[in-house]
Amino acid sequence: MELACLDLEGVLIPEIWIAFAEETGIDALKATTRDIPDYDVLMKQRLRILDEHGLTLPQIQNTISRLRPLDGAAEFLDWLRERFQVVILSDTFYEFAAPLMKQLGFPTLLCHRLEADEQGRIVDYRLRQRDPKRQSVRAFQLLNYRIIAAGDSYNDTTMLAQAEAGILFHAPQNVIDEFPQFPAVHTYQELKGAFIEASERDLSL
Ligand SMILES: [Mg+2]
Repeated sequence: MELACLDLEGVLIPEIWIAFAEETGIDALKATTRDIPDYDVLMKQRLRILDEHGLTLPQIQNTISRLRPLDGAAEFLDWLRERFQVVILSDTFYEFAAPLMKQLGFPTLLCHRLEADEQGRIVDYRLRQRDPKRQSVRAFQLLNYRIIAAGDSYNDTTMLAQAEAGILFHAPQNVIDEFPQFPAVHTYQELKGAFIEASERDLSL
């Protein structure tokens, strides 16, 4: 039995914080885990910046509602779901992802949660667990699934390593160079091929 685990941002949808930073013109919101590796530190900085600009959750959701999945993403996901059970493992928040998940047909998504007060101010965030992508793969393996995983960045590499097969998709060159053990592909057509190849390899074991 095989399960496909996909990262969300950079694989199926744009980077939400970067898109939001561009729309609001707040450059400081462009920082990612590449700039600040500690996710807690990064999130606290983001919430502080939102507060400084008086930005509330409904305003952010309004911006996100105008985002679209990456070109070809919905078709790729449909293709994948015909062939595998698919679970999306993301470090985003349900409150951010919802409008985009609607455009993707509401696939299963495991991610984090935000807390807002009655005025819509984001007061806190709840990370589901530490190293959530790898822990999810481990949990599925305990259910006797073999995992084929794909992601684009550093926060995916423990998931790719834990999976029976890990694939880098749309990854920047520095990630590709640092993790040569994972095949790297750049188009959905190539990603389909990588999933089929990994699946056939698994079946022959
Ligand atoms: Mg990503």
